[in-house]
Amino acid sequence: MPTSLQGIGVSAGLVAGPVAKLAAPPALPAPRPVQDAAAEAAAARAALQAVTDDLFARSAAAADPVAKGVLEAQAMMAADPTLADAVAERIEGGVDGPHAVEEAFAGHRAQLESLGGYFAERVSDLDDVKMRVVCALLGLPMPGVPSPGHPFVLVAADLAPADTATLDPAEVLAILTERGGPTGHTAILAKQLGIPAVTACAGALALTDDQTVLVDGQTGLITPDPSDEQVAAAKERQAALAARRASSHGPGRTADGHPVRLLVNIGGPSDVQASGVPGAQGVGLFRTEFLFLDRQTAPTAAEQQELYAQVFAPFAGRAVIVRTLDVGADKPLPYLAQEAEENPALGVRGLRLGRVQPAVLEEQLAAIAAAARASDADVSVMAPMVSTAREAREFAEIARSHGIEKVGVMIEVPAAALLAEQVLAEVDFASIGTNDLAQYTMAADRMEGRLADLLDPWQPAVLALIQMVAAAGQKLGKSVGVCGEAASDPGLALVLAGMGVTSLSMSPGALADVRGTLAAHTLEDCQRLAAAAVGAPSAPDGRAAINAELIGVG
Ligand code: PEP
Ligand code: MG
Repeated sequence: MPTSLQGIGVSAGLVAGPVAKLAAPPALPAPRPVQDAAAEAAAARAALQAVTDDLFARSAAAADPVAKGVLEAQAMMAADPTLADAVAERIEGGVDGPHAVEEAFAGHRAQLESLGGYFAERVSDLDDVKMRVVCALLGLPMPGVPSPGHPFVLVAADLAPADTATLDPAEVLAILTERGGPTGHTAILAKQLGIPAVTACAGALALTDDQTVLVDGQTGLITPDPSDEQVAAAKERQAALAARRASSHGPGRTADGHPVRLLVNIGGPSDVQASGVPGAQGVGLFRTEFLFLDRQTAPTAAEQQELYAQVFAPFAGRAVIVRTLDVGADKPLPYLAQEAEENPALGVRGLRLGRVQPAVLEEQLAAIAAAARASDADVSVMAPMVSTAREAREFAEIARSHGIEKVGVMIEVPAAALLAEQVLAEVDFASIGTNDLAQYTMAADRMEGRLADLLDPWQPAVLALIQMVAAAGQKLGKSVGVCGEAASDPGLALVLAGMGVTSLSMSPGALADVRGTLAAHTLEDCQRLAAAAVGAPSAPDGRAAINAELIGVG
């Protein structure tokens, strides 16, 4: 066993504990002839129904809204009548129940995968539903989370959302998986539950039950069989981290009072409570396409206005930055009938949709403007995938013609970052989408797990572009935020603040850590760390240098 393993830290926290591994899913029995097709098909339908009911019940019992949504989506997969028909059809063709389930799910899986992006990421959710149906059909217990009777570090190849959503943070000290990435459900739910987590960690499955491991959810470092000194040092750091989280209140600022607005990324009204989002100074990215991803027909203008109004209502006096539809590439909208493309990520996506269907943007801006007029929120709009100053100008003209005063653009294409001054001159603000900026700068598909090292926002080339945009903002006196996943990494948050980024927008679960980390460092510290990260020879070197400083501070 190596002295350490390295994965991707996706939920911060440091803890040592004994390993308990998730049982592997059952193997399918050998195929057998079908005696009574009608009875076998009925049993398969009953298994699908049982899994549907179980997932709906788990969804109803889940306290966390994200967990609820994930479980409900899985229940709906199991309830899909076309799936039940596909299973029955195969049984009638002579395939036994378990194998018919396997084949029918494989068909659905291939469809999801071919849609790519957002949908392809749901493949592991579907695989889990299939495994549950097979277990129900064979009368086997669901291979769920172990319960060794004491707190443990849960180790698995991958974790299904149905498992992650129902984990008890008092029992599960940390999560460690061999697969998964920073944007998968394991990562999202672990952050939500406050459980330290490391994904994409090669060699994790070689750990044995009851072996002690030290898990660092910030750096992704796993130490098997840590020494007493290592465990004691980790405990000290964890206590300091918890204290920092607990003492983190109010607006974002550095130790010497330099303000950095802390905002949240949302996808619709269900992400917003009656009081807004606790701890957030507003919304830095409202991904409006998330409202419509599963719709077969276009929303009417009135429907859109109502949805936007619901989001704005709790944010009186606070900022809400609405991003116009970012469709295409990994987020096709079923009702928009976009043409198939050779390279969808480089195709007619984001603002570019306006070239072929300009009415969609006009209608959306009209609905946003109407909802904004009726609300006390400080509403602004921004366009995704802007490449040129001219695109920025044209978007601003359209938005302003609808009466929207504050208009911005996302900077996620390197061309727009390189000429940020010209682009920013046309609008009121910019927000850097580091997920796509990394994809396009490094020429690495953001959905390709094998290229995760290239997609790392710590890549010095990506940081150099962010620095150019921040500098342009400072020169023109315009705000430049960051709303990609990079903003939720406490170490990167310092680096970004040091570059002059004025706001950070992230998932709500990351707010306390980022706020606490900023409050423990001066602007000068941040500027020094920014120079170190951009000047680092590689992404891991930059991350390690800044993490070493974070560990030093506690
Ligand atoms: C980004 O690209 O960083 C971003 C925030 O937008 P999305 O992840 O929705 O593409
Ligand atoms: Mg983007």
